[in-house]
Amino acid sequence: MTETANLSVRNQTHADIARWTCPHGRHAGDGCVTCYHASASDDPALPQWEVAAWFVSARPMPIRALHDVHRHGRRFALDQPSTPLVFLLSGQVRAATGTEAVAGLVGFLVDNRHIVDDFTVTEIRAVHS
Ligand SMILES: [Zn+2]
Repeated sequence: MTETANLSVRNQTHADIARWTCPHGRHAGDGCVTCYHASASDDPALPQWEVAAWFVSARPMPIRALHDVHRHGRRFALDQPSTPLVFLLSGQVRAATGTEAVAGLVGFLVDNRHIVDDFTVTEIRAVHS
């Protein structure tokens, strides 16, 4: 099962928005620090998701920041595909739903502003693994 949302399209329906809103009332694409901390418990009773978030950074990111992610985020990796200022944060998250898994992934960025302080998430994806 794959759930994908392209957030750069403006015509998200109410149903889309509701589907991607976590239990704390945050849209997964905006990230949720509570979901991020909840995912840190790595509860084996919860399903595991392969999650990805593409985002645009307002400023170039030093290569050191990319390595930092792996040190702080353990299960997360930050990659720069080919386009300048476009980054891909991906990893494995245990959470009840794909929405909470993505909210937790993006919540990692929100909680670690020293890595990227100004960003816009353009696409999110959760695959039940
Ligand atoms: Zn949340």
